[in-house]
Amino acid sequence: MSSDAPSIFTRIIAREIPADIVFESESVLAFRDIAPQAPVHLLVVPKTATYRTVGELAAGDPALLAELVTTAQRLADEHSDGQYRLVFNTGEAAGQTVFHVHAHVLGGGLAEGTLGD
Ligand code: AMP
Repeated sequence: MSSDAPSIFTRIIAREIPADIVFESESVLAFRDIAPQAPVHLLVVPKTATYRTVGELAAGDPALLAELVTTAQRLADEHSDGQYRLVFNTGEAAGQTVFHVHAHVLGGGLAEGTLGD
């Protein structure tokens, strides 16, 4: 079934397709978004494909969610002077297209007075 096929992020984690990787730990990978919505636009993903959404991750492995957030902070410190927007889209209607939980780290100059991308 197509829903069981590896997501694009699982294929990036497996190095089956290329990505501009900026950070890796035992359980997390971060790389540049292929279609950036801000001067700095990074994706932070857990290596496990178990969790589709941030809500599932929070319920199932809060320590891993905390690692995603601390990784986002560290990357924003390195790439965006520590100021950034952290976005987790949940559901198609909210713009989620990859159902392998991921944090968008947006920084480097964002439009004032806006939410989302
Ligand atoms: P979302 O819409 O929240 O599910 O976010 C998915 C993100 O993945 C989008 O911002 C895409 O631009 C990004 N994306 C899709 N394919 C790739 C890829 N091969 N490398 C890097 N980013 C990707």
